[in-house]
Amino acid sequence: MNIKNYLESIDIDFTESGSNVGKNSVNIRCPFPGCDDPSTHLGVDIEKGFFNCWACGESGTIVKLIKNLEQITWSEAKEKAGSADYTRDNDLLDFINETLKLPKDSKIVTDVTIKLQDNFLPITNQTSNKLLLRYLKQRKINLPLAIKYNLHYCKSKDYSQRLIFPIYEENTIVGFTSRDTTSISKIKHKHPKGFQIKNYLYGLNQFNNDILFITEGCVDTIRLENIAVGIFGKSLSDKQEEKLISAYMNNRFKSIAVLLDEDAFESALEIKQRLSNFGIEVKVIQLPKGKDPADLGKKRIEELEKNESFF
Ligand SMILES: [Zn+2]
Repeated sequence: MNIKNYLESIDIDFTESGSNVGKNSVNIRCPFPGCDDPSTHLGVDIEKGFFNCWACGESGTIVKLIKNLEQITWSEAKEKAGSADYTRDNDLLDFINETLKLPKDSKIVTDVTIKLQDNFLPITNQTSNKLLLRYLKQRKINLPLAIKYNLHYCKSKDYSQRLIFPIYEENTIVGFTSRDTTSISKIKHKHPKGFQIKNYLYGLNQFNNDILFITEGCVDTIRLENIAVGIFGKSLSDKQEEKLISAYMNNRFKSIAVLLDEDAFESALEIKQRLSNFGIEVKVIQLPKGKDPADLGKKRIEELEKNESFF
């Protein structure tokens, strides 16, 4: 497949030169859910067919990229890519580590902890911000839950009128993401540039249950209290997969139920297949049309898991 011709054929703008563009690569805007970076931070190696986004950390083969650019199934994307040419192999890591140069304006955070900003305020029973309280009420997040997950909000600057979700690794905050509470901002979800959010699972520090429910977002995870973790979107990254396997090996849970929004059934089946390879029992739960896990709440989701259709 000629990747440049392909991108042109589906009307995707790309940059071929500049300090952020690696050798044999073009850069495009990242199509992955949860990555709202509007600049061209996703590099595609047009010879090897690998990609990597410096803003959110998504990476993989051209097949995964095509699937997400066009919102089609794996098999359709494979067919478009010409599967024989672009299968995953060890070159991928080399590509990520060496071929692409780090853009000047972004920091890659690996071991360094991103601190919550000084202007972030923790939610307490004194919190009186009306927009924020309305948003929490709409999403059915009560005060004890907001406090349990250490939610913050922000009144000024970059994260103004946003609900802040600290992200933990073990018991340390390693970064955060945020959600607009006004429904005016074009950018719904926002996290610090260069923070590789897809290296983490949301809510694993609070998780405590025999069945681990995988959800898309922070709100879903919080609403399910201590039985879920969030993957910041519809796809499971390799790092997130590693973290789930290691939690399983440490007896943190016995089985998994994949609980993505109704439009992500294909992704859910793919996650099931990947995790089943490690001998974990995995179910995919189909949600009623138009409902997300946060609408239903913990009790109803546990009933679904026991009684209703799954795959
Ligand atoms: Zn991205």
